[in-house]
Amino acid sequence: MQSYLCLRHLRDIPLRSPHPSLSYFSTNFSVRCYSGYATNTVTSASYNHQRFYSDKNIRVSDFRSDTVTYPTDEMIDAMRMASRGDDLYNEDKTTKELEAYVAELTGHEAGLFAVSATMANQLAIRTHLTRPPHSVLLDFHSHIYKYEAGGLASHSQALAIPINPLNKSHLTAQEIKSNLISSDDIHHAPTHLVCLENTLDGVIFPFSEIVQISRIARERGVKLHLDGARLWNASAEKEISLKQYGQYFDSITLCLSKSIGAPIGSILVGDQKFIDKARHFRKQFGGGWRQSGLLAAAANFAIRKSYPDLIKETHTLARHLANGLQSHGILILKPVDTNMVFIDVKPINLSITRLMTKLMEHDILIENSPGTITRLVLHYQITREAIDKFLWIVGELITE
Ligand SMILES: *Cc1c(COP(=O)(O)O)cnc(C)c1O
Repeated sequence: MQSYLCLRHLRDIPLRSPHPSLSYFSTNFSVRCYSGYATNTVTSASYNHQRFYSDKNIRVSDFRSDTVTYPTDEMIDAMRMASRGDDLYNEDKTTKELEAYVAELTGHEAGLFAVSATMANQLAIRTHLTRPPHSVLLDFHSHIYKYEAGGLASHSQALAIPINPLNKSHLTAQEIKSNLISSDDIHHAPTHLVCLENTLDGVIFPFSEIVQISRIARERGVKLHLDGARLWNASAEKEISLKQYGQYFDSITLCLSKSIGAPIGSILVGDQKFIDKARHFRKQFGGGWRQSGLLAAAANFAIRKSYPDLIKETHTLARHLANGLQSHGILILKPVDTNMVFIDVKPINLSITRLMTKLMEHDILIENSPGTITRLVLHYQITREAIDKFLWIVGELITE
């Protein structure tokens, strides 16, 4: 788990070379990777910074994340058609259309376009929690608990009750039941909110379990939020509509800049009153924006383009990659339900750094890690050819 954390720093490398003229020449490319325990420096063959990070052609073989998609010309054409009103004045038509569209897709009354899924989650939590002292029950591995800079504590003054699921995959109704604090005893912080995440590490949360958890939450008068940053993937893969998922939650976050392929944004959905209040908090968080129609148009375009078919094709490619890696002796650590492949290269005596360096020589990017474990993420611009090249390179490395 920790292993890919440090790799997030790869993205901190400047997008452009220090001086524009350098981009015409090959410059030496070096990656520094920091983690709690190790610092490695990898210097690969000559690379041209500009080309490496901003050429759309490289995206076909960029396995670091599904956020790295390149905004296409078609998408930019769609942006040209956007309304140009001020969203803070509630006057932007394209933004309203996007919010209404995703609300309708998920069967909720209203939607709110926000800058990131982190912001949408934090707004949801802040809006749901109105009577401190209170606690939030969630998965120990969840994004809200681990990767949102402790926002739960600072924005909402909530006690987190993180649970490490026994089945190593997802929370169960039984675990929710036995960890939820209902008592009014003044020693406790009663649980007012449960957060689930779907998908988590690319793994789909079983639908029947969601139904049971939702029933418990309603019986106990506890709100249920879904961090569905990648709910698109679960829905496309299982052919369970967003609306079918939607009915079991009081609010849902959906990310637009991940699998969908939009450049920026997320949507929070819920009932009208909830969304009106979340809009108020969005302003307080500094997330009220102006001519957001351009970004809403890109997102609108991206949803219609990617969901569900392109997303599903991406999952097929992820399984193709996983099967190929497995046949080379690499361990696949988690079920490849959607677009992520967690690998351990220990059985073939490789390190991730060695694999990354070799792949990079062939224009393929993966997240580095100090050990033998990393996460490969696919998105709709990854091609089958890139995967076949990936597998061929692994074959070459083994016979070296
Ligand atoms: C990436 C992610 C987020 C945060 O998304 P940003 O738009 O990068 O803030 C939230 N939840 C999950 C499950 C994610 O994977």
